[in-house]
Amino acid sequence: MAKLYFHYATMNAGKSTMLLQASYNYRERGMNTMLFVAGHYRKADDAGYISSRIGLEEDADMFRDGDDLLARVAEHHGRAPVHCVFVDEAQFLQEDQVWQLARVADRLDIPVMCYGLRTDFQGKLFEGSRQLLAIADEFREVRTICRCGKKATMVVRLGADGKVAKQGEQVAIGKEAYVSLCRRHWEEEMGRVKPEDMFGFGGS
Ligand SMILES: [Zn+2]
Repeated sequence: MAKLYFHYATMNAGKSTMLLQASYNYRERGMNTMLFVAGHYRKADDAGYISSRIGLEEDADMFRDGDDLLARVAEHHGRAPVHCVFVDEAQFLQEDQVWQLARVADRLDIPVMCYGLRTDFQGKLFEGSRQLLAIADEFREVRTICRCGKKATMVVRLGADGKVAKQGEQVAIGKEAYVSLCRRHWEEEMGRVKPEDMFGFGGS
């Protein structure tokens, strides 16, 4: 039976590259894939595509809040068999949409590979990621490293001024940059623990 997969990571870990590579592997064997990318932060008339930092790019369907992804996959599958569904920016899926993708796996027997961020810059789960962590069949962590060499599991957001943002919207559209860090250095950068405080309990 087909499964629902969640590949999660922090920013800049190469998720889109992995997605495009995996899709390519299907197509190379003469199979069809259907690609989705979040349309939330794109203009209505923008063409959807998934691009990676190393220059790969492929057209993709956009998903937005309220879209029925099961219906869209079923419609496409009715015209030409779909062998695998890929979803980039899966953190922006709604809870219902994660269930629709589960039904794509369970009822249409098409594997669904979701790629996304686990947590936002404040260390909180995104809606799509929370539901995927709850019901996906398989989980794969896409690894990247902190400046100290440890595995990076967290992300900080730098504003246009280069300072670490401690509050604000879950997603910012602008000149922000993101840096992936290990949990220890994330807490320090967020000002939750002082670097010199070995025990993290504040002491006095
Ligand atoms: Zn670190």
